[in-house]
Amino acid sequence: MSGMDESVQSLDGIGPQRSEALAACGIHNVGDLLGHIPFRYEDRSRFRPISSLKENEWVLISGEVCRAGGFRTRRRGFSIFEILVRDGRGGIRAKFFNQPYVGRLYPVGTRMILYGQVKKDTYSKGALVLVNPECEILDGKKDPLSIHSGRIVPIYRKLGGLQGRVLRKIMYAAVSRAPQEIPDVIPAYLCKQLRLPSKSKALKQLHFPKLRGGNREAQEKELKLLNTGISPEHKRFIFEELFEFQVGIRMVRQHRSRYGKKREIVLDENVRTAIKKILPFHPTAAQKKVLKEIAGDLRSPHPMSRLLQGDVGSGKTIVAAQAAVIAVENGFQAAIMAPTEILAEQHYYYMQRLFKPLGYTIDLLKGSLPANERKQVIQRIKSGQTRIAIGTHALIQENVVFDNLSLVIIDEQHRFGVMQRDILRSKGNRPDVLVMTATPIPRSLALTLYGDLDVSVIDELPPGRQPVKTVWYEEGERSGIFNEIRRTVDAGLQTYIVYPLVEESEKSDMRAAIEMARRLETKIFPDLRIGLLHGRMKGPEKEAVMRDFSAGKIQVLVSTTVIEVGVDVANATLMIVEHAERFGLAQLHQLRGRVGRGAAQSTCILVGKAGDSPEIRRRMEIMCETNDGFRIAEVDLELRGPGEMMGTRQSGVPVLQYADIVRDRRALEIASIEADRFFQLLHIRPDRECRRAAALIRQRWKDRFSVSLAG
Ligand code: ADP
Ligand code: MG
Repeated sequence: MSGMDESVQSLDGIGPQRSEALAACGIHNVGDLLGHIPFRYEDRSRFRPISSLKENEWVLISGEVCRAGGFRTRRRGFSIFEILVRDGRGGIRAKFFNQPYVGRLYPVGTRMILYGQVKKDTYSKGALVLVNPECEILDGKKDPLSIHSGRIVPIYRKLGGLQGRVLRKIMYAAVSRAPQEIPDVIPAYLCKQLRLPSKSKALKQLHFPKLRGGNREAQEKELKLLNTGISPEHKRFIFEELFEFQVGIRMVRQHRSRYGKKREIVLDENVRTAIKKILPFHPTAAQKKVLKEIAGDLRSPHPMSRLLQGDVGSGKTIVAAQAAVIAVENGFQAAIMAPTEILAEQHYYYMQRLFKPLGYTIDLLKGSLPANERKQVIQRIKSGQTRIAIGTHALIQENVVFDNLSLVIIDEQHRFGVMQRDILRSKGNRPDVLVMTATPIPRSLALTLYGDLDVSVIDELPPGRQPVKTVWYEEGERSGIFNEIRRTVDAGLQTYIVYPLVEESEKSDMRAAIEMARRLETKIFPDLRIGLLHGRMKGPEKEAVMRDFSAGKIQVLVSTTVIEVGVDVANATLMIVEHAERFGLAQLHQLRGRVGRGAAQSTCILVGKAGDSPEIRRRMEIMCETNDGFRIAEVDLELRGPGEMMGTRQSGVPVLQYADIVRDRRALEIASIEADRFFQLLHIRPDRECRRAAALIRQRWKDRFSVSLAG
C-alpha cells in the first residue's frame, strides 16, 4: 500500500462526515484527492508596503494589529468586526462580516499576513479597506510553515463541501503524504522518451508550485503556464490520462474478442425474405451499408459492440428493426431500450405495424404499466413468447429475465450510462449490442470516448428531404409566429411549440406551456385543436395526446422537452422553440430534428434573447447557418469543451478530467500511437515495468468504469 491508497480519513481535518461528502464526488483515497488539481494560482509570494496600496488590487500584506473591535449593525444578527493593521509606514483596516469569532483570533498585538482585494469603504469617506481577507497569524517565535501566503497559492474548486483555506490545508497534508515513488501508468521508458516529469514531482508542483525561473520575467511566464493549464506538469497529467484511456480501450477490445458467443446466426434466403417483408420503403445506400456491417457482426463468433451514428431523421429505426428480424428469425429474442416512455411507445406502435407481416409477438415494458399487466409482460418475456421486448429503463430491472436474448439495441444511447448498458448486456448470453445515437459527436471525440465500439455511420438522409429552414427571432415577434402557424395549418401540416424544462424552473416552464396552450386555444386559434404535453401528465394521457398528434387530429402541440428525442411525425413541419437561449446546441439540433421528416419544406423558429452573451449568439447563428449535425457538434465542442457536451456528461461515459481533446488533440495522437506500441510490447516481450503499468491501468479502469479486464 502506498500513501496514495490510504483513505482520505487518514488526513487531519477529514472525519467521517467529510469523507462521506468526498466519496460522493468519487474521492476515496489520498490519490483521488490529489487528482483534484487547482484550477488557478495566485502569486502571494511578495508582500506589499501598505502605503502603496491602490483600489481594486489583490494584495498580500504583513503587519501588526493595533486596533480591534466589533460592532453590531442595526440589522439583527449581522455583525462587523474590524481591525487596523500597520506595517512600518502605513496602515489599513480590514473588515470581517458575520465572523464574530475573529475578535478572539486577532487581538491587538497579533502579527499577521492578510490577502485580499483593496476596496474603497463607502462608509468611511472612501478610505481603503480589505473586506473579508484571508488571514494567517505569525506566531512570533518563528514564521509558520506557510500554506496560504508567502508563496504561489493554489486555488481549488469546491470539493464535497470543502473549499478555501480548509481544502488547501487538507491538500497540503495530502501532498506531504505522497511518496517519492508513485505508481505510474506511464512506463518509465515512455516518461523518459517524452521527457515527462515524474508523477510525484508533477503532483507537488501542481499543488504547491515552486517557481524555478531565475528572473522575475521567467517566473511570471511560468506562473502563466500554470494558470493556463499548459505547464509541463499539466501536460504530464493530460498525457497520462489519454494514455491510460487509449491502452484501456485496447484492453477492452482484446478482452471482448477473447470470448466467443455460443450461438449461430445464419442469414439465409428465409431470413433475407423476412427482412424485406417489413420494409415500407427502399432503404438508402447508407442504410444498406450499415445493415451489412451489423449482419456481419451478428454472424461473427464474437459479440457485437457497435455504435450506429446517424443524424436526426437519417432512418436508424428501420435498420434496428432489420437487425431484430435477423435475431428473431434465428430463434432468439431482441430487446430495444429507449430513454423516454414516449419514444418507447412510439417504437412499440411503429414496430407492431412493421412486424405484422411476420406475426411476431412484441411487448412494451415501461414504468407506468399497471401491476398485473406488467406481470404478464414479464412472464411472456421470460417464457420466450415475446420475441421483441421494447421498453424504457424498466427493461433492465432485476425481475426482468429473458429466455434467450441475443440482441440488445439501445436507442439514443447518450441518454444512458455505461452501467445501464452493461446491465442489459448481462441479461443475455453475451448478446450482440447495438447502440444508436443521433448526438453528433466529432470523430476525434468519438474515437476517444467510444474507442471500444465499432462505429457505423448513416451519412445520408432518405430521398426527397429538404433542409429545415431555421430563423432566429430575438424579440418574441408574436404576430409573425402566429401567421406562420396559420400558414402551416392551412397547408394541412402540423406545428410543435416547445418550452425548455430545466430543473430549477421546471414548474414555471410547465406553467408557461400550459398558459400558451390555453391562450392559443381560447384567443388566437379557437378554430384549431391544440394539444398539450408535459412531464407531469399521466402515461395514458400523454399517450393519447401523442397518438392524436401522430394521427393529425391535433394541429398544434405545445410541449415541454419531453418530445426532444426520437419523436417521428412526418407531417409536422413547423418547430417553434421558446427560450431557445436556454438550450444547448445538441438539444436544439435534436428538437429541430423533429421536423423535416417528410417531403414538405419545414421551418424551425428559435425564439430567444442573446443579451450580451456571445456564446448564445453564436449558438443561434450556427443553427441558422447549417443543418449538419457534425458541424454543429464541432462548434459545440469549441464553445463548451468536451466535458460539457451533451452525450458525454449525461451518459456517464468517462469524461476526461484533464485533457481537452480539441486543445490536446496532438497529445491524443501521440497517446494513441504510444498505446499501440505499448500494447505490442506487452504481448511480445513485456518486462516487469510494462506488466506493472498494465496491471495499474486494469485496476484503474475497474475502479473508474466498473469494467473488468482480465490480464
Ligand atoms: P432517426 O435516425 O432520427 O431515428 P427515423 O428512423 O425515425 O430517424 O426515421 C425518420 C423518418 O424517415 C421516419 O419517418 C422513417 O419512416 C423515414 N425513413 C427512414 N428511412 C427511409 C427511407 N430509406 N426512405 C424513406 N423514408 C425513410
Ligand atoms: Mg430515432
